[in-house]
Amino acid sequence: MSMKTLAETNEHAQDAGTTKTTMRAAVVTSPDQPLLIADVPIPVPGRHQALVRVITSGVCHTDLHAARGDWPVAPKADLIPGHEGYGVVVAIGEGVTTLTIGEHVGNAWLWSACGLCEYCVTGWETLCPEQQNGGYSVDGSFGEYMLVDEKFAARIPAGADPVEVAPILCAGVTVYKGLKMTGVKPGQWVVISGIGGLGHIAVQYARAMGMRVAAVDIDDTKLELARHHGAEVTVNAMKGDPGEAIQAATGGAHGVLVTAVHPRAFGQALAVTRRGATIVFNGLPPGDFPANIFDIVLRAITIRGSIVGTRQDLAEALEFYARGQIHPTVHVEPIENINDIFTRMEQGKIDGRIVMRYSDD
Ligand code: NAD
Ligand code: ZN
Ligand code: ZN
Repeated sequence: MSMKTLAETNEHAQDAGTTKTTMRAAVVTSPDQPLLIADVPIPVPGRHQALVRVITSGVCHTDLHAARGDWPVAPKADLIPGHEGYGVVVAIGEGVTTLTIGEHVGNAWLWSACGLCEYCVTGWETLCPEQQNGGYSVDGSFGEYMLVDEKFAARIPAGADPVEVAPILCAGVTVYKGLKMTGVKPGQWVVISGIGGLGHIAVQYARAMGMRVAAVDIDDTKLELARHHGAEVTVNAMKGDPGEAIQAATGGAHGVLVTAVHPRAFGQALAVTRRGATIVFNGLPPGDFPANIFDIVLRAITIRGSIVGTRQDLAEALEFYARGQIHPTVHVEPIENINDIFTRMEQGKIDGRIVMRYSDD
C-alpha cells in the first residue's frame, strides 16, 4: 500500500487532498421531522473500506421511506440516507487491495454482505441476512463524503456522466434485475406499472432487452415520459381500467414489473397479464393487496418480489449504460433542497430522477 491508512495517521477522518474534517450532510433525526442539513465528522474508513468524496447522489423513493420510517425494520440512528452515490476515492482503510485513490466508484443499497451464507454462495447475495444497506443500516451518499466496502463498491465505467450514472446504481440495477426475473423474451410484452425514477429507466432497459412496453401510471406527464423512452401503449389508471386497456392492446402481457408506490397498482397487475405470465414487484409501499386465488392458479401466474441486484447485475446494468442504451431523465439540485425534493416525491411531482450534485468534478 502506497499510503498510510487514515486510522494510522489521523484521529479524525480527513480527505487526503484537503485538511477538512467535517462535511455537509442531510441527517434524519426523527421520522416526523425534516432532514437536518448539518456539519458532521467525515467518516473514517475501517478495514477493507474506502473514503469517497461524493460528486453526485440520486434521490430514491427508498430514501423517503427510510426518512419517514415506513418499513418494519428501522434505519440506523441519525441516518445519512442515499444509495445512488457516485464519487472519487480519496483515502483507503487498512487491508484495501482492490481500490486506489482517484478511482471512480459508487455506493449501493447492497453495501456489503457476509460472503459465506447459503445465499451469498449461491448467487443470491441480495438475500444475505447479514447484509448492510447503504443509506439505511450504514450512512449513505446524502453528504459530501461516504464510505464504501471495497468488495461491494460499484466500479464506474470510464466516461460516465456523473449525473446520469447515479440513478443506475439503484434504480437501474433494480429494474434491470426485475425485468430479467419476469422472463419476458425479446418481442414479448412487458407492463411497467409506475413510471417514476425506477419506472422510466425500466422502460429503457426493457426496450434495450428487446421487449415491447406498455406503461401504467396515474399521471399523464409520467406517461409522456414513458412514450418518450419507448413505451408503445400507455394507460392512466385514474382515467381507465389498465386490465381492459392492456388486454385489448396486447392480448395480455407476458410479464409485469410493478415499481409503483401505491398498493392498488399491485392488485391491478394481475388483470393485465396473459396466461403463464410472471409479475415482479419492485415497489415497496407499506400495505397489502387483494389477489384472487382461483385466477392465479388457473392461469398459472407467478408473483415474485425482487430486491436490487447482485454485484454482477450492477456491473451488467452499468454496461448497458456505458454502451449508450440508457439515458435517465435527470434534474440537478443542491442538497439544501432535500426536504422540498421529498415533498415533491410524495406528491408524485418529480419527472424521472432528482440528482443532487456536491461538486463539479
Ligand atoms: P418515484 O416516487 O420516483 O415513482 C413512483 C411512481 O409511482 C410515480 O411515477 C407515481 O406516479 C407512481 N404511482 C403512484 N401510484 C400509482 C398507481 N396507483 N398506479 C401506477 N403508478 C402509481 O419512486 P421510485 O424511486 O421509482 O421508487 C419506487 C418504489 O420502488 C419505492 O417504493 C421504492 O422504495 C422501491 N424501490 C425498490 C427497490 C427494490 O430493490 N425492490 C429498489 C429501489 C426502489
Ligand atoms: Zn433505491
Ligand atoms: Zn451472506
